[in-house]
Amino acid sequence: MNAPQPKPWVMAIAPYVPGRSTVEGDTPVIKLSSNENPLGTSPEAVAAFTRHAGDLARYPDAGAGLLREAIAAHHDLDPARVIYGTGSDEVLHLVAGAYAGPGDEVIQVRYGFAVYEIATRRVGATLVVADDRDYATDVDAILAAVTERTRVVFVANPNNPTGTFTPKAEIARLHASLPPQVMLVLDQAYAEYLAPEDDDGGLELARTAPNVIVTRTFSKIHGLAAERIGWGYGSAEAIAAMHRIRAPFCCTTAGQEAAIAALAAADFIAASRAHNRLWRGWFADEIAKLGNAGLRAVPSEANFLLVLFDGAVTAETAYKALLARGYIVRWLPGQGLANGLRMTIGTEAETRGLAAALREIVGA
Ligand SMILES: *Cc1c(COP(=O)(O)O)cnc(C)c1O
Repeated sequence: MNAPQPKPWVMAIAPYVPGRSTVEGDTPVIKLSSNENPLGTSPEAVAAFTRHAGDLARYPDAGAGLLREAIAAHHDLDPARVIYGTGSDEVLHLVAGAYAGPGDEVIQVRYGFAVYEIATRRVGATLVVADDRDYATDVDAILAAVTERTRVVFVANPNNPTGTFTPKAEIARLHASLPPQVMLVLDQAYAEYLAPEDDDGGLELARTAPNVIVTRTFSKIHGLAAERIGWGYGSAEAIAAMHRIRAPFCCTTAGQEAAIAALAAADFIAASRAHNRLWRGWFADEIAKLGNAGLRAVPSEANFLLVLFDGAVTAETAYKALLARGYIVRWLPGQGLANGLRMTIGTEAETRGLAAALREIVGA
């Protein structure tokens, strides 16, 4: 060894590939690849951000005190047990860092969120993949994958990139059947898109169980993806452990203020949810009409649809043909989804345009 060597588990990480945001030439770009809010950001959050845009010289509140209090008040939680991060991505990394290392196993579902694998490998732990059930989370498969080395189970609900939802009773059964030394991470990045009665019970579990951490984000329905703010909730012990390994300052001052305002923007959140419901349903119907061409949409409770291509036109062909028309969606061959495209629900015009482009591409 005549040069510094990165750790082998680091070199085993396939780098995260972000959703594309450009196309060739000067075709106008319609970005439907990162599950961002097509309605943008609430006016309340933009106003709060703007009020603090000049507050640049001072470090932000390292404890994000006001933000934690606002989150706690909104969800009826203990502010001391709220942890925040540079997106919920950082919180996911903190869980892996605090609870897993070389020799330990971390479970995720097949077609899980790409960050889980990176967070697992980064700390030298071993990723174990539990089989899906028709693209959805299979609680029995997760339980069957548990060994005495299992330390963390990551479940996104709704799941990304499939959009599938695991009901409350199944989450409760998963938690009740896991050994007590396993930390169950319920990643609720899309929870605000659910109807209130579809709550998966995650926060309720995290209030009392020592081995549950729920994560949430301001990047999706709140439309603050550029500011990188996420949070998590768990036991006082878990939160204290995660605090030990975090970077001291993560969220900008203006970002924290915008997030506080975003939480209170009830009308914007409701409008975003209603828009998503309407156009996700409409788009799923359009995909169903292309069944003859081998297209099928996986049932989704999130702000995107995973469309499977099992006909003459492959997902790769459709991906490239959509790109040529300016539509950027997500093709995920690296995650075992060479036959699928994940498409974010955009504005009405974007969604109608995407459906028309797909019809044209498959020749329907
Ligand atoms: C988008 C997303 C996140 C969060 O992203 P941040 O922007 O880092 O908060 C977390 N989990 C899943 C499943 C996601 O799709």
